[in-house]
Amino acid sequence: MPAGTMKALVKKYKKTGLWLEEVPIPEIGINDVLIKIHKTAICGTDVHIWNWDEWAQKTIPVPMTVGHEYVGTIAEIGSNVQGYKIGDLVSGEGHIVCGKCRNCLAGRRHLCKDTKGVGVNRPGAFAEYLSLPAKNVWLADPNIPKEIFSIFDPFGNATHTALSFKLLGEDVLITGAGPIGLMAAAIAKHAGARYVVVTDMNSYRLKLAEKMGATVALNIKEKTLADVQKELGMKEGFDIGLEMSGSGAAFKDMIANMCHGGKIALLGIPTADLAIDWNIVIFNMLMIKGIYGREMFETWYMMQSMLQTGLDISPVITHRFHYTEFEKGFEAMLSGNSGKVILNWIDG
Ligand code: NAD
Ligand code: ZN
Repeated sequence: MPAGTMKALVKKYKKTGLWLEEVPIPEIGINDVLIKIHKTAICGTDVHIWNWDEWAQKTIPVPMTVGHEYVGTIAEIGSNVQGYKIGDLVSGEGHIVCGKCRNCLAGRRHLCKDTKGVGVNRPGAFAEYLSLPAKNVWLADPNIPKEIFSIFDPFGNATHTALSFKLLGEDVLITGAGPIGLMAAAIAKHAGARYVVVTDMNSYRLKLAEKMGATVALNIKEKTLADVQKELGMKEGFDIGLEMSGSGAAFKDMIANMCHGGKIALLGIPTADLAIDWNIVIFNMLMIKGIYGREMFETWYMMQSMLQTGLDISPVITHRFHYTEFEKGFEAMLSGNSGKVILNWIDG
């Protein structure tokens, strides 16, 4: 049983940055496991915390260890926990649900009204060890590359969004070629979509979109969605829209390019109030669904099965650093010229 202290990336001061600190190894309760962290990935949320923006200032307690995308092995098991053994390869769901609200009781845990976030509301995974409730553990298939499990959290956002609607034979528009939009493109192709069009204005990311299997990676500075529809021989608009940029302009463009009865899933988080032309939504009978997190654990099941049946999301990982080089990792994320950035916590 590990005891003593460990290295961790801590939000120590109420200003830009993170600090590599020596902190106590977290204790586990009877229903928890202790996970020895092997690899972590940097999320957009971690960048908000790094930047200490308005959201971070009102959300993150200081000091606190951050991070919520990881893979590791079980190092210690609470006395009340069954079904796991020391050394099991695991990742974990970062939303810890209340277990008591109507949706939790009905088994719809992703709709919990009172979730707590690992690395947001409680100590996170950018550390040598993480304490996690056993009910949040995902047992990893060791035949899948370990690194991929360190991005299961955002891969789960992409999967939850992309598989919200039937995709077989459909034409899919994805606005935003960030890591999540990129993974959604690969998922949509895997799920049988006919055309997958991904938009962005970042040419580095648009190149990645092509690698991930997008039919067209559209730079919105160069061409319009109407041009692309014409080139592809589309006649009535996109059947499915996945908004993954958080940009109001992208959302408006999407609404204007959907077919009648088109279905839209909204994952991107707008930073301000946003007005749209509701007449288009009403007269074109669009369906709009908000997405938060992942379905527990149906999304996790789908992620693992898609990887077992040939889905390849590996091109989305573009940078790898040792955790002591975390500043380089954040620099890559802040530049915008990155997909997922991995930090290694052990050798191998
Ligand atoms: P990201 O910020 O890395 O990617 C967003 C991309 O959108 C960028 O590449 C940007 O250049 C592009 N973009 C900006 N304006 C655009 C426009 N008008 N048209 C097309 N593209 C445009 O983000 P990410 O990590 O991939 O996450 C995607 C979004 O999902 C973000 O808004 C994030 O906050 C949100 N998110 C939501 C959840 C949830 O549970 N709902 C979870 C994770 C992330
Ligand atoms: Zn609940």
